[in-house]
Amino acid sequence: MNTNEIGDLHWAMQILSELDAGLIVIDREFNVCAWNSFMQSYSGIRADKIIGQPLFERVSDLPEKWLRRKIDSVFALKSRSFSCWEDRPYLFKFKYFSPLSNGMELMHQNINFTPLTSVNGEVTHVSIILNDVTDIARNKLHLLNSNQKLSDLSRTDGLTKLFNRRYWESCLLHEFEKCQVSGIVSSVVIFDIDHFKKINDNYGHTVGDEVIRQAAKELKKASRASDISGRYGGEEYTVILPGTCANQALYFAERLRKRIEKSVVEYEGCAVKYTVSLGICEISTYQNSHLTWLEHADKALYLSKQTGRNRSTVFDATLIK
Ligand code: GH3
Ligand code: MG
Ligand code: MG
Repeated sequence: MNTNEIGDLHWAMQILSELDAGLIVIDREFNVCAWNSFMQSYSGIRADKIIGQPLFERVSDLPEKWLRRKIDSVFALKSRSFSCWEDRPYLFKFKYFSPLSNGMELMHQNINFTPLTSVNGEVTHVSIILNDVTDIARNKLHLLNSNQKLSDLSRTDGLTKLFNRRYWESCLLHEFEKCQVSGIVSSVVIFDIDHFKKINDNYGHTVGDEVIRQAAKELKKASRASDISGRYGGEEYTVILPGTCANQALYFAERLRKRIEKSVVEYEGCAVKYTVSLGICEISTYQNSHLTWLEHADKALYLSKQTGRNRSTVFDATLIK
């Protein structure tokens, strides 16, 4: 090597050592051959304590199985490989204080694996370059979180936290189409609070609101996780019961009706008792759209109202003749 070449090498070593990224070089036996200052500062392990040592013995909390497989493939295929923070948040568990979150944070890392060839073209080493992408990850996670909250808000009714009418109707359409294709039978239940105007008139709107909220709570308690509940209008609720026939839906409706009949809403010094009327419709050839499906459940509800309220009615074809 001439003086120029030695000079170049000296520079290269300085750049690599001071790189604002982690640099590790390992041989086929996973012995560490290079460990730059970035790695020293974040791991707390000095280069002279790790160079020449087996990586997995010196750094114990590495995902050994995954990393061995990754590096073996770089040796075998003689090609580069990459690991993104979105698939694996970090390789080295580096903690540091973050002024933004005002606490200890784990460094998110993107990692490049590069095969290093010797003068005779043989891959003898692999370099691991580790980039700190914590800022990018934090922003992206924050954005995803905000988007999730926004989309939850746009689907939810503020008073009851049930799905709002628009979103619930889109679920009904989806269920309708699913039933058409699969031949599975599902049911829709619609219910409405009886004489709700009187509750508002006698106790005021805030107590009325509380009754609406409590009815939604009873609905949630009576439902299964797969049921899809919505607040359809003022004091009107709708439920999709997937894979449920009319008889089972009637059983659900009656259970809910009795729960509500027994309950007392205590609010602002008032004790309010209330009842609901329900209509049930199992999907059949009488319904040619998701909206007729709901309409037919509503016809059954109307009959419940007409025949005395605080009751459940199952749709049958005589209601549309
Ligand atoms: P029915 O037994 O026939 O259902 O009688 P009802 O008095 O319940 O009649 P209806 O369903 O027509 O009345 C609903 C009332 O609910 C009318 C409206 O003022 C009231 N309402 C609608 N939305 C809200 C709400 O968000 N809060 C409160 N407090 N009242 C509401
Ligand atoms: Mg009502
Ligand atoms: Mg109503």
